[in-house]
Amino acid sequence: MNSRKIVIAHRGASAYLPEHTMEAKAMAYAMNPDYIEQDLVLSKDNVPVVIHDIYLDDVTNVTEVFPDKKRKDNRYYVIDFTFDELQLLQVTERFNPKTGKQFYPTRFPKNKGNFKLHSFEQEIELIQGLNYSTGKNIGIYPEIKNPEFHYENGKDIAKITLDILSDYGYKTKNDNCIFQCFDAKELERVRTELKSDLFLVQLMEFPEETKKLQHFATYADGIGPWYKQIIDKKENGKWLFTSFVSDAHKLGLKVHPYTFRADQLGEFSSFNEMLQVLFFEANIDGGFTDFPDKIVEFLAKK
Ligand code: CA
Repeated sequence: MNSRKIVIAHRGASAYLPEHTMEAKAMAYAMNPDYIEQDLVLSKDNVPVVIHDIYLDDVTNVTEVFPDKKRKDNRYYVIDFTFDELQLLQVTERFNPKTGKQFYPTRFPKNKGNFKLHSFEQEIELIQGLNYSTGKNIGIYPEIKNPEFHYENGKDIAKITLDILSDYGYKTKNDNCIFQCFDAKELERVRTELKSDLFLVQLMEFPEETKKLQHFATYADGIGPWYKQIIDKKENGKWLFTSFVSDAHKLGLKVHPYTFRADQLGEFSSFNEMLQVLFFEANIDGGFTDFPDKIVEFLAKK
C-alpha cells in the first residue's frame, strides 16, 4: 500500500446500478477506483455469493420465485439456496421488503432491467480480465459477512474465501487485495490461525470499539469506521475531529471510513465539502463510496 489516498467502489458503482451486480462492477471499473468491494455470503452448496446481506428479499424477487422457502421470521436466506437456485432470481435496486419502497428514490428504478446474482470467483475473473485487457491494475476488497451466522449453519466462510483468493493469486500484502470483516475475533483468526499475509482491515460499528485500536493493530493493517466516528462537532463554522485518525495513524493503521454518498450528505452542505473535510482536514487514507466517479475526480484535482 502506498501513501496515496484511495477510492473503494462500495458494492460497485452502486449509486447508478443495482448494488453488487456485474453491471455495477463493470461500471465502477471504468471509473478507475483503486479497489472494488465484494460482500460475501455462502450459498447452501458453499459458493461465496456477492451480496450485502444474509437475506435475499430486499434485493431480489425471491418471494415470487420461491414463496415457500422463507424461514419462520418471514425472511429468505442466501444459505438456504443452492447457487443454481440463486441464478433463477432477478436482482433489483434495494428496497424495503415490508413496504416494497425503493431505498434510494433517485437511483436506478426498481424492477427494471435484467440483473442476476454472481459468485465471488465470477467477479474476480471480471476484474482480473479487465486488468488484462485494459492494462490497469484495480484491486479487490472482499468482506466476509457474519462469520458467526455461517458457523451456526456449519460453514467456515473465512477459510473458503481465503482458499479462493489464494487460487487467484491474492496471498500477501503486495497483491492487490484488502480483506475486511466486522467480526474482530474472526479477523484476528484470519491472521493468527489461518495465517493469512493479506492486508487486513478491521471494520468498526460501535464507538466503544475505539478503545480496542491498540489490539486491532496487533493483527490488522487498517480500520474501517463509520465516518461519523471521526467527526466531533462543527464550531464557529469549523469542523472539529476526534483523535480517532491520529490515534490510528500512530499505531500504523490506515483509515478507510464508510460510506460516502452524494445523495446522503448528513450535516454537510455538499459532497465536495464532505470529501474536503474527511479526506484532507481529518486526513483519512481512503473511503468507501457509492459514487466512485465523483471521488476519483475530486482527488485528481488535488
Ligand atoms: Ca461491505
